[in-house]
Amino acid sequence: MHLVDVLARDSFTASFEFFPPKNEASWDLFFSTIKDFGKLRPSFVSVTYGAGGSTRQFTHDLVVRIGKDTGLDAMPHLTCVNHSANDIDQILLRYAEAGVSNILALRGDLPNGTSTLASDYSYATDLVRAVRSFAQSGRHPDLRGFGIAVAGYPEGHPQTPNTLLQMDHLKAKCDAGADLIISQLFFDNHAFYDWRERCELAGIKTPILAGIMPITSVTGLKRMAELAGGTKFPAALLRAVRRAQDDADAVSRVGIHWATEQCRDLLDHGVRGIHFYTLNRSDATRKIYENLGVSSTDALRQ
Ligand SMILES: Cc1cc2nc3c(=O)[nH]c(=O)nc-3n(C[C@H](O)[C@H](O)[C@H](O)COP(=O)(O)OP(=O)(O)OC[C@H]3O[C@@H](n4cnc5c(N)ncnc54)[C@H](O)[C@@H]3O)c2cc1C
Repeated sequence: MHLVDVLARDSFTASFEFFPPKNEASWDLFFSTIKDFGKLRPSFVSVTYGAGGSTRQFTHDLVVRIGKDTGLDAMPHLTCVNHSANDIDQILLRYAEAGVSNILALRGDLPNGTSTLASDYSYATDLVRAVRSFAQSGRHPDLRGFGIAVAGYPEGHPQTPNTLLQMDHLKAKCDAGADLIISQLFFDNHAFYDWRERCELAGIKTPILAGIMPITSVTGLKRMAELAGGTKFPAALLRAVRRAQDDADAVSRVGIHWATEQCRDLLDHGVRGIHFYTLNRSDATRKIYENLGVSSTDALRQ
């Protein structure tokens, strides 16, 4: 379903982000887990796209299979680094032919050790324009073309320390045709609320989803700090994790509790939707729903 229709249908959206399992043996496990996610009745799910070459095809295959096997609406992420304009056109064509409705358009990061851009598009804005102009070619079954989501950074993107300039860049993505902004993960809701207000001040009217990732282990926390550069870890959260660090289950409980409180507060502040970075594990997301006292997203809309 086109993102515009999803947003019209759901006053609050919950979405779950997955990554393609690395090898085919893990696919069966993934498809048994996804049943648990399905019970939570998300508005849509999304599948990440690897910056390196090897797993890129898996994104397409997983998106198509999720649609076929589960009926969930799956949105592929697509990055433009290391892709020519023709590559992008061919990828979009395959998605259009498979009936995929939406794309999360990203620049992506260069794989480690790569120093030059072998890409026709420099920024996500260029990709958004390419996806929009694909619609004009009439090759998508929906005359509107793909629904388009883009990424936003409540605590800033590490490559552009000038936050005013960064807001201009986000606005440019929206003006180029984005239907939805999905935020980078954050642990301090005030940072999100302030950014949301700054988006409003900049004249951005595109709906914004809050990105939430529960910490489930100390290793996971360190990996998050690496992947989401610039994200701040509040001292209270670090203290709580440190107190629990000798007990893996306790660390996970602390992380899930923190994420639950974030979600409760976001709901109280009328957030348009929450995007859960699930790491393909349903337990943490399920527990957050449980802690919120609901069995599915339907109840979060009341
Ligand atoms: C929800 C979400 C999902 C993600 N999924 C993936 C994924 O599946 N695969 C993956 O590899 N990565 C993913 N990422 C990470 C993302 O690719 C990186 O953060 C990347 O560095 C930036 O991508 P972007 O689309 O935000 O880029 P852009 O919007 O292009 O911004 C990148 C940087 O360039 C600056 N900039 C933008 N336009 C201009 C301009 N015209 N002139 C000068 N500077 C400019 C911006 O301010 C920013 O600092 C995801 C991030 C988020 C938040």
